[in-house]
Amino acid sequence: MPVNVVSTIKGLCKRCFSCIRHCPAKAIKVEDGQATVVWEYCIGCGHCVQVCSQNAKIILSGIEKAEQALKTEKPIACLAPSFVAQYSQYHPGQVISAVKKLGFTEVWEVAFGAYLVTQAYQKHVLSDQEKPYYISTSCPAIINMVEKHYPEFIPYLVPIVSPMIALGRYLKKTFGDRCRVVFIGPCVAKKDEAEDVRKLLTFPEESAGGIMNTEFVSLPVDLTAGQAITRIRETANDAETIYYLYVTDESDHLLGVFSLRQLVMANPKSHIKDFMETHLITVDLTDNQDHCAQIISKYNLLAVPVVDKNNVLHGIVTADDALDKIIPTAWKKRLPKLYH
Ligand code: SF4
Ligand code: SF4
Repeated sequence: MPVNVVSTIKGLCKRCFSCIRHCPAKAIKVEDGQATVVWEYCIGCGHCVQVCSQNAKIILSGIEKAEQALKTEKPIACLAPSFVAQYSQYHPGQVISAVKKLGFTEVWEVAFGAYLVTQAYQKHVLSDQEKPYYISTSCPAIINMVEKHYPEFIPYLVPIVSPMIALGRYLKKTFGDRCRVVFIGPCVAKKDEAEDVRKLLTFPEESAGGIMNTEFVSLPVDLTAGQAITRIRETANDAETIYYLYVTDESDHLLGVFSLRQLVMANPKSHIKDFMETHLITVDLTDNQDHCAQIISKYNLLAVPVVDKNNVLHGIVTADDALDKIIPTAWKKRLPKLYH
């Protein structure tokens, strides 16, 4: 689920509305006298933090988590290329030595991830020339803008991970899946992106955990159909798919699933527990992607939930994602339009 990377410190806001005027995504509303960020619309550009003269806007800090990792693990640091400009008074080698002194075992530059991504872009554009244009960006704020405000352009986003994620995956492959990676950089929107991919980087790229999407709709079991529809309207903006709605308990254990069709057809006063499917078809976080594709195809599903050994729901693998990994591009072109 998405995290609020920018928020308002209650009590400091003097209602000058400067942030509201400057927000490019119209993502700030006045609530209880405070200019409050609405994360469903916020793209994480961080502009409101700069324009607020009262220091009432804050950015989510990752320092505590990094300090914890330094105490208990031997993390690897990944430096955003901007470190050279930020610490221009020092030689880059001095900055790298200083980061190592903090306790990081390795220091890598995210620029290497950019090198990996460039190669993937070249391959993709050469092998898929059907679209008239592509949106090529590694900026998560731009991607948020497209996904949240211009969803009609989503098909034109090149489906290749950012340099940060490419490097994270490379490091996991090189140093083992259990190595801890800490990204150090100035980008606000990257914090949201990092939260989303944290789980994905924990698992091998070829596993269900490595290809799953963490933006899905989960609902508590005690809702009525009418309440569920209201909840979906309020929270499902970022969900990858709402064809399936997942029912979980307070600890995220998967209890049931039902389709959007079932929900719409149900009496608004009926309880979702009365019509949800409890004979669940799931895949494990560590199952390989071929298995996911087989399950999806065998049961004719649009997506399959990904759970751990304790039946805790972590994400979903959609039919597109599963097939995308196992079907060569040349074959995909021969498939019906439904796939594209
Ligand atoms: S710019 Fe700062 S003080 Fe002004 S409305 Fe926004 S949060 Fe409040
Ligand atoms: S971070 Fe950007 S998009 Fe989000 S509320 Fe602030 S100005 Fe608006």
